[in-house]
Amino acid sequence: MSATYRAIQVTKPGEFATVTKPLVDPGPGQVRIRVEACGVCHSDSGTVEGVFPISWPRVPGHEVVGRIDALGSGVQGWTVGQRVGIGFLGGPCGYCEFCRNGDLVNCKNQEYSGIHHDGGYAEVMIAKASGLISIPDDLSSADAAPLLCAGLTTFNALRNAPAKAGDLVAVLGIGGLGHLAVQYARHMGFEVVAIARGSKTAELAKKLGAHHYIDSAAIDPAAALQALGGAKAILITASGGKTVAATFKGLRPGGVSIDVGVGPEPIEVTSPDLIFGERKVAGSLTGNPATGDATLRFSALTGVSAMIETVPLEEAAAAYAKMMAGKARFRMVLVTKNGNGQPGQPK
Ligand SMILES: [Zn+2]
Ligand SMILES: [Zn+2]
Repeated sequence: MSATYRAIQVTKPGEFATVTKPLVDPGPGQVRIRVEACGVCHSDSGTVEGVFPISWPRVPGHEVVGRIDALGSGVQGWTVGQRVGIGFLGGPCGYCEFCRNGDLVNCKNQEYSGIHHDGGYAEVMIAKASGLISIPDDLSSADAAPLLCAGLTTFNALRNAPAKAGDLVAVLGIGGLGHLAVQYARHMGFEVVAIARGSKTAELAKKLGAHHYIDSAAIDPAAALQALGGAKAILITASGGKTVAATFKGLRPGGVSIDVGVGPEPIEVTSPDLIFGERKVAGSLTGNPATGDATLRFSALTGVSAMIETVPLEEAAAAYAKMMAGKARFRMVLVTKNGNGQPGQPK
């Protein structure tokens, strides 16, 4: 086994460099992973553009799939050779007030993968065992990667929404997150509405499982949702407070608008719209590791998958640029030489 590995790190805002790093042993509670695939997510801009306070250089990447090749001391429940995933949340501490109350997502000591420590744009990653997610055998590493952030985020938000089978649920934005959200919503048994700008997306939305398509550039999406009876939940996967506000009146009484699209724009809704009908605006942050397991199992069971384009790890900068330009259809996935990263390869 080589004593070094290759990684793509960001040396300062906007600048990628391919480097060779020495292999290190995992510390207590950590595992070392031979990375096979890593998705390129819009939140990687938090690292690349330096939105978060970053101690440079930093390896981005938080949709990581690979095989454990070493266990640190005290790690239980995981084995060398096992294929695992790591998402945005680096792993709960287990001892803070929120962890002790069972709220692992909001752990006070949670690090973010690729932001507070090096992530998956690399052949090797060190990860906290408490954040690991199991990868089912029937998903290739490249197919599993986008499910660890885009998949978990949308699956978790829909699963926790106050909607039951048969209820009207809308997905706003048909991109990296939205194209998965429509599939999950359909397989969870909802009456699914896809909302996007332009008529071009209609066909794809139907193919993904949407029962209805609303072109928000042509008609008022709130009125169109009310014409369908009003949505019990609207999952906002696009960023922009105005898009949240524009659909808010499309909620039925007791409905909730769940925002997973990060952006600086404020969300403006009036108090009468909140109060008369008891509607809610909520945020949702990825999900806990067990929900990560459930996301991948559910995806394998139902055939939900991300539309991906795989590129070699060395082309990370180009893949990132394509994603940021909105040209990815729909998720870019970096693959390494470590194994079965390519879709269709033997598991
Ligand atoms: Zn992400
Ligand atoms: Zn904690």
